[in-house]
Amino acid sequence: MWRRLLRWLSMKNAQNEDEFPWAEYWPEIGDPRVRAAFGKVSREAFVADSLRRYAHQDVPLPIGEGQTISQPFVVALMLQALDLKPGEKVLEIGTGSGYQTAIICELTAVPDGVRGATVYSVERFATLADNAVVRLIRLGYRPHIRVGDGAAGWPEAAPFDAIVVSAAASHVPQPLWEQLAEGGRMILPVGEQFGEQELWLVRKQNSRFRYKRMGGVRFVPLVSPLLDDPSQWAEGR
Ligand code: SAH
Repeated sequence: MWRRLLRWLSMKNAQNEDEFPWAEYWPEIGDPRVRAAFGKVSREAFVADSLRRYAHQDVPLPIGEGQTISQPFVVALMLQALDLKPGEKVLEIGTGSGYQTAIICELTAVPDGVRGATVYSVERFATLADNAVVRLIRLGYRPHIRVGDGAAGWPEAAPFDAIVVSAAASHVPQPLWEQLAEGGRMILPVGEQFGEQELWLVRKQNSRFRYKRMGGVRFVPLVSPLLDDPSQWAEGR
């Protein structure tokens, strides 16, 4: 806790001097590909002008509709755990600002390919999705983005090598489990809106559900009627 606070305070001083001010404060993020992707995507481009001066702080920030752009460290932790490879097909639930989408586009980019060609992202709010699309296109990314209930996944594009859920669900939605490729990985915060939430790294191995718990987090809720129906919960399969 103290270590993180000290790191955050020193980070505030570093923010204008370094293109990638978070790197040295994140010893947990050792994957050079993840670090490089963070170096390429400026968070400033994904927040409102009035918040730009806070963009390089390792904290969530409001993006409208009562939602937040995720804390960069948590995005890094999730994407490092997924170990994304160039060319992999990835589904993201909760586009939000599009910041994490851009980093996924970097991590899945193939040389001379279209950045984002294998990235699919679903957002509940049309306003947020529209803003994200404009920003991502301006920066040269071409992910597939649509408005809808991400708990239902994107069946036409399945199976996915990896799925990232950026909003907390009380259970793992069954459609996402079904759309995960054999050998695929899914990371998601599991828990209640104001209660305990923890990150789960789920794997599909021989069609069996395996998961690893990766510590406590705090996300906005995944809002979906699907989660009210126990037949749509995937754990234990
Ligand atoms: N990674 C994003 C975080 C966005 S916050 C970023 O860095 O900006 C989580 C997002 O999930 C919010 O934009 C919220 O509107 C969206 N969300 C919540 N429930 C959803 C659902 N059922 N389907 C799609 N998006 C959802």
